[in-house]
Amino acid sequence: MTTTRFAPSPTGRLHVGNIRTALHNWMLAKKAGGRFLLRIDDTDAERSKEEYVEAIRADLAWLGLDPDGEERQSQRLALYEDAFEKLKAEGRVYPAYETVQELDLKRKIQLGRGLPPIYDRAALALTDAERAAKEAEGITPHWRFKLDQDEPITWEDGVRGPQKFDPAQLSDPVIRRADGSWLYMLPSAVDDIDMGVTDVLRGEDHVSNTAVQIQMFTALHAAPPAFAHEALLVGREGKLSKRLGSLGCDAFREQGIEPQALVAMLARLGTSLPVEAIADRQVLVDSFDLSTFGRAPARFDDDELARVNTALLHAMPFEEVAGRLPEGMDEAAWEAIRPNIETLADVGEWWTIVTGPIDAPALEAEDKAYCAQAAEELARTGDDWKALTSALKESTGRKGKPLFLPLRQALTGMDHGPDMASLLPLIGAAEAKARLERAAA
Ligand code: GLU
Repeated sequence: MTTTRFAPSPTGRLHVGNIRTALHNWMLAKKAGGRFLLRIDDTDAERSKEEYVEAIRADLAWLGLDPDGEERQSQRLALYEDAFEKLKAEGRVYPAYETVQELDLKRKIQLGRGLPPIYDRAALALTDAERAAKEAEGITPHWRFKLDQDEPITWEDGVRGPQKFDPAQLSDPVIRRADGSWLYMLPSAVDDIDMGVTDVLRGEDHVSNTAVQIQMFTALHAAPPAFAHEALLVGREGKLSKRLGSLGCDAFREQGIEPQALVAMLARLGTSLPVEAIADRQVLVDSFDLSTFGRAPARFDDDELARVNTALLHAMPFEEVAGRLPEGMDEAAWEAIRPNIETLADVGEWWTIVTGPIDAPALEAEDKAYCAQAAEELARTGDDWKALTSALKESTGRKGKPLFLPLRQALTGMDHGPDMASLLPLIGAAEAKARLERAAA
């Protein structure tokens, strides 16, 4: 069964880039009728915070990306220990004793000589006696995974196509710190095996990690999952902007962005499919296809998001927003007001115009008289806008703007707004008559 996972580290809030990764993993699983798992990568005890774990869950819920299961790395340490012992027995991990400063110096020397800063495997060359001497000095080792340098590492990437890495050009990664804590690489591979992950879809900043992890899967006698790396998101300005890193669900919510808009936009951003205001997730899921993903960075544009958001609101059914509308606002009111809003917060202003009180407009004498006449006419036609304006056209000879605008101004206090034929019944005949009389006074 297709199984994907979203694996955030709870060291901060999700940002638009993470949200996109989560969404694509969710879509990949849904399209295949598979499972989408949440894995909390909290091996870094110092930087991981419970509040972020909760925020991640809440953000996914707001987006409607419900995981089919959740795992936490901090509760799976025994598994990593076990894998570590196996790799050790097979000579695939080795202790290293260099300090951060020593490693830094080695890198500087290499760079100074124009060489790539690859770890020189000095620790691998230590004899048992040398190791014992280090430990007698009280130096606890950290641990590296020994890359197999015999063959190139290759895989068929779902987005990038055939990939090839020369392991000799990679450093043996540190997988465990001297204090026994884990770095990201090995636990992730162990979990992907244990959780039955079939597809790893993540950002292209992980491409070289994938090369290393493929060797880890093999060393753990497991077949690697299918890998795909999507191009990163950039801001409209072109550069990888810091701003994107601060754009999270809270910020979007504050701007009045609906989760559906974010989903519709991020689903297709960076693909060859058009970004459209698609409310039906199934449509998005059905069209999801890694082969449509481009390799160029995807541009995130908030104006585009705002447009998608507005278009979705204009078509949004009442049931979907009912709980967030002002008290007393019914389906007819939603449908009348909906075309005039950019975000849901705009509804309040229009609804106040329906419920009143509104400020009476300052009209010219001629228009005041016209409103007085309209009030009388309305007593006969009731809240039927068509009937009212036809009657007034007939009796006053007015047409076009002079016919309609003073009425709109008297009834709403505004020069523009929702369709009056829908609005008038919402205001109600009695209140409308009172407003026309007040405008006429
Ligand atoms: N915790 C890692 C990250 O947030 C997960 C990467 C992955 O998907 O394997 O970058």
